[in-house]
Amino acid sequence: MPFRPRYSGLIDKYRDRLPIADDARVISLGEGNTPLIRLNNIPRDLGCDVELYVKFEGLNPTGSFKDRGMTMAVTQAVNAGSEAIICASTGNTSASAAAYAARAGIRCFVLIPDGKIAMGKLAQAIMHGSEVLQIEGNFDDGMRIVKQMSEHAPVTIVNSINPYRLQGQKTAAFEIVEELERAPDFHCLPVGNAGNITAHWIGYCECSGSRDGKLTDACAFCDGNCRYASNTVGGRPRMVGYQAAGANPFLRGEMVDEPETVATAIRIGHPQSWQQAWAASKESDGWFDQCDDTEILAAQRLLADREGIFCEPASATSVAGAMRDIGTGKIPAGSTVVCTLTGHGLKDPDVAIRQAGDAISKVPAELEAVRKAILDRI
Ligand SMILES: *Cc1c(COP(=O)(O)O)cnc(C)c1O
Repeated sequence: MPFRPRYSGLIDKYRDRLPIADDARVISLGEGNTPLIRLNNIPRDLGCDVELYVKFEGLNPTGSFKDRGMTMAVTQAVNAGSEAIICASTGNTSASAAAYAARAGIRCFVLIPDGKIAMGKLAQAIMHGSEVLQIEGNFDDGMRIVKQMSEHAPVTIVNSINPYRLQGQKTAAFEIVEELERAPDFHCLPVGNAGNITAHWIGYCECSGSRDGKLTDACAFCDGNCRYASNTVGGRPRMVGYQAAGANPFLRGEMVDEPETVATAIRIGHPQSWQQAWAASKESDGWFDQCDDTEILAAQRLLADREGIFCEPASATSVAGAMRDIGTGKIPAGSTVVCTLTGHGLKDPDVAIRQAGDAISKVPAELEAVRKAILDRI
């Protein structure tokens, strides 16, 4: 009997809702199917009556949600005969592209910014054998070059302007609806290039039977058998996008030329899905807001310290923003809230260790010294 895993990735699972031919060779690492974790301690600490969940996308094969889009983009590229892919990246796209290219046996070129890339992500791109080109510029510069490059070299772009990326990423919304048996009232995401908030909105719209913003009563997803559409706007959540205060084009209403934040994954000033993300926000009656680096790092620490969940700084932006909006009542008591934790904390150990402060104590390698150190702390 050939080996057949119980779960074999999101293309196999959601094939009837993805634009992939039945006979396509699927390039998968078993992505998707990530846990939706209910937070216990943080809501209790906050003293708020909100059902708060995190969708831990850091548990995808390369440690971020990018794998959902990359299985689609690389499957499509390979089946269209492409032998090389290219992307600009703040880190996670390159890690994911490199892994799926390795799996497919094709070449991968990644353009990363000069510095400001988390070490874990760089290590992945190198280990998976991609050609890493570090440009003397930021992500937005890389993106501009990649868009021009596809006209000059036989390479397929796998940034989120590739529509297959968003198709793969929409499946996160399917999983949430499946798990909760309804859509949440609010879905909070960190926003950089704004592909993911767009993809989630596509997914929720499809779940609620609305493919083009026009709502029908039927739930296309479950044949109307679920407890769907109870107290959400048309059975879809309000989409809330949080940006880093130093990289906040959606707050300013215009592009930002010198984005700066500790959350390097969202250090983007010229988002590619600008119009789509505005549409998602408006159609869902949602909003954008921003968090400064101190709030982002505090939320990252809180998740790790109080819930046992280690995400990277950019990911914590969703929880930092949600906590503030829950506190002020903008997200009202009684709501069901999902925050996407986009990437794993192990991606960026440097930022974590820099925060450690006095968390590490030196003691002599002797029983008595260790015993005393423990008793002092109990
Ligand atoms: C890519 C990424 C984001 C931003 O997602 P967009 O689709 O670009 O808005 C946020 N967090 C992490 C960890 C990422 O890798």
